[in-house]
Amino acid sequence: MKHNFGAGPSILPKEVFQEASQAVIDFNNTGLSILEISHRSKDFEQVVMEAETLVRELLSVPEDYSVLFLQGGATQQFAMVPMNILPEGGKAAYLDTGVWASKAAKEAANVGTVEIIASSSDKNYSYVPKGITVPSDASYFHYTSNNTIYGTEVYEKPNTSIPTVVDMSSDIFSRVINVAEYDIIYAGAQKNMGPAGVTLVIVKNSLLGTSNRKIPAIFDYSAHAKAKSMFNTPAVFSIYVTMLNLRWLKAKGGVEVIEQENIVKARTLYDEIDRNPFFKGTAALEDRSRMNVTFVMDSEEQEAAFLKLANHRDLIGIKGHRSVGGFRASIYNALSITSINALIDAMREFEEGNK
Ligand SMILES: *Cc1c(COP(=O)(O)O)cnc(C)c1O
Repeated sequence: MKHNFGAGPSILPKEVFQEASQAVIDFNNTGLSILEISHRSKDFEQVVMEAETLVRELLSVPEDYSVLFLQGGATQQFAMVPMNILPEGGKAAYLDTGVWASKAAKEAANVGTVEIIASSSDKNYSYVPKGITVPSDASYFHYTSNNTIYGTEVYEKPNTSIPTVVDMSSDIFSRVINVAEYDIIYAGAQKNMGPAGVTLVIVKNSLLGTSNRKIPAIFDYSAHAKAKSMFNTPAVFSIYVTMLNLRWLKAKGGVEVIEQENIVKARTLYDEIDRNPFFKGTAALEDRSRMNVTFVMDSEEQEAAFLKLANHRDLIGIKGHRSVGGFRASIYNALSITSINALIDAMREFEEGNK
């Protein structure tokens, strides 16, 4: 059995792969593949509706929010957010907690004025800045809830009264959130929600059309909301697989249940990192992510040796991002405790063999 710790695209439940592969051959006993049906067909309309309903149920999305399935990844949202809600002459406040956060801020700076209110770049983004003050005269505040590369996570929304936009690409559906605290939530699917190709946007309806900018319709949330994610041909297969994955999550008991599993998985792995003298966590203790666990060893030789052992044990995708080095175990919803234990076994084996 392969244990897939890849950061994204990443693991999804085996059942989801099986059902999805069946639908590629014959979708809903239509005699047609999911890959060839019209996005305007009744069968596919049902899929989009069910996907939206599942998002609303699983996250308790309030009525006055639109749920959109777009394309272009989280990266497109970096640009779409300011185009839609940053008025001419206005400014936006950004919290800089890593590469994705800073890319989001750079895109916004192409549209209007950006103020970086705090940054943890001084320590290679190994912590989340605390005690920040969000300027009340900004049009909105943007932050990244889980820093996929550095293994830090922001569990509580920073205090502010202005509209808040959050990039939840790598921790959406991993823990209970209060959607009403946010004005826009966006997430590329390929970390914890589905395959690459679809991007979830949850936007408060009162924010639609507030920038008064002339923007291309394809980048306008209002156009997508009005067309119910069918403004143009949507990512049919990616939405379908996302829907299957959300069905799987619901059948498991929903976000409350998976959150408890995620807490246990993360704690189990961090406990071993803290116990085993050969490994060291890189993120500040209080900011440790439950989704991406980053750790290093004392030397590059040790890291190369452990990587080799890991490959032999079918532990896939644990090499760290080049900007942190060492290792990163992405332990998304679909990754079981069995895989965590397989990684821990390898860490202990390395310890035994190198005493
Ligand atoms: C992966 C990732 C992105 C980039 O997503 P794309 O879908 O490739 O554009 C942005 N933000 C976060 C937090 C990510 O983990």
